Amino acid sequence: MITIEHLAKKFDDHQIFSDINLEIQTGEIIGIIGPSGSGKSTLLRCLNLLETPDAGTITIDDQQIVAPHITKAQRLKFRQASTMVFQQFNLFRQKNAWENVAEGLITVKKIPKDEAKARALQELDRVGLAPYANFYPEQLSGGQKQRVAIARSLATDAKLLLLDEPTSALDLELVGEVLQTLKQVVLDHPNFTVILVSHELGFVQEVASRVLFFDDGRIQEAGTPDEVLVHPQHERTKQFLARFA
Ligand code: ADP
Ligand code: MG
Repeated sequence: MITIEHLAKKFDDHQIFSDINLEIQTGEIIGIIGPSGSGKSTLLRCLNLLETPDAGTITIDDQQIVAPHITKAQRLKFRQASTMVFQQFNLFRQKNAWENVAEGLITVKKIPKDEAKARALQELDRVGLAPYANFYPEQLSGGQKQRVAIARSLATDAKLLLLDEPTSALDLELVGEVLQTLKQVVLDHPNFTVILVSHELGFVQEVASRVLFFDDGRIQEAGTPDEVLVHPQHERTKQFLARFA
C-alpha cells in the first residue's frame, strides 16, 4: 500500500533523515519507537505532506509523489489518503465535539451539515462519547478530547491512520481509555493501515504487526514485536528499551 524510497528531510542545516526506505502492506499495524527528537513525527508529517520532503518518493496505492516537486492536486490527494491523530489533540476550541468531528466533512468533503452531523454522532458513539456530543473541548478530559480526535479521523474514511504519540500528553489515569479506544478501532477496521508512534511499549507489542526502532534518522532495527521489543539485536535498541525496564 505504501512504499517509501530514499526519503530525505532536513530543517535548515539539520538533516533529520536522509535515506528512509520502507514498504508497508495494507492492513499492517506498524509501531514506531525511538528516542525523542529522532524524527518520528517528521516522518509521519512527511507521509501526509504536512511537511514537504526534500527528496525521495512516496507511493500510496496508485499515487506517487517525487519530492520535492509536489503539485497542489497531489498534496490534496495525499492529505485525503491519510488521517493523523496528534499528541496535542488539535481540536477547535470554539466548536463542540460533534462539530469538531464534522468540520472536515463539511468544509473539505462538502457534505451537507445534517448528514455530516449524523456521521459525526455515529463516530462519537463508536468511541463511547455519544453523551458528550455537545460538549466543548474545555469541558472534556484529555482522554475524551483524544477520543474526539480519533472519531474525527475515523469520519474522514481515510484508510491510513497516522497516530503520533496519541497518549503522551495524557495524565497516567487517562492513558488506558484512549488505548482501549484505539484497540477497538483497530479491531473494528482490519483494513486500516496504521502507523503508530508510541512509548507505550506494552500496547505496541499487543497491537503492532511490525515494530521499527527509529534513531539517528534511521530505521535501526525492524521486526516482529517479539523480535524488536523482547529480543533486540542492536545495542542502541537494547539501550533504548532498558530505559523502560
Ligand atoms: P520526534 O518526533 O522523534 O521526537 P521530531 O520529528 O519531532 O522528532 O523532530 C526531529 C528533529 O527535527 C528535532 O531536532 C526537532 O527539533 C526538529 N524539528 C522538527 N520540526 C521542525 C521544524 N518545523 N523546524 C525546525 N526543526 C524542526
Ligand atoms: Mg514526535
